[in-house]
Amino acid sequence: MKSTVRCIYCNKDYDMLVDPADLTAWSEGELIQVALDYLSEGERELLLSGTCDTCWDEMYGEDGDIMTVEHNSHLSHREKE
Ligand SMILES: [Zn+2]
Repeated sequence: MKSTVRCIYCNKDYDMLVDPADLTAWSEGELIQVALDYLSEGERELLLSGTCDTCWDEMYGEDGDIMTVEHNSHLSHREKE
């Protein structure tokens, strides 16, 4: 199933191919990285938070790892700008 998700920041539409059964599994409590493991990290983030990869990078830096971003000092990211 082709699913179109719009980024809440840039209003761009992103198409991704997802199995509706996997979306159901996710909504019923399965971890998104397990239920939708074939999507890219950016696509999963778009589903989770409505933020596309591009906007995510702008907010958190291009090398920002989603799982560890809280542990990084924001000062170290700011130096590049
Ligand atoms: Zn965006």
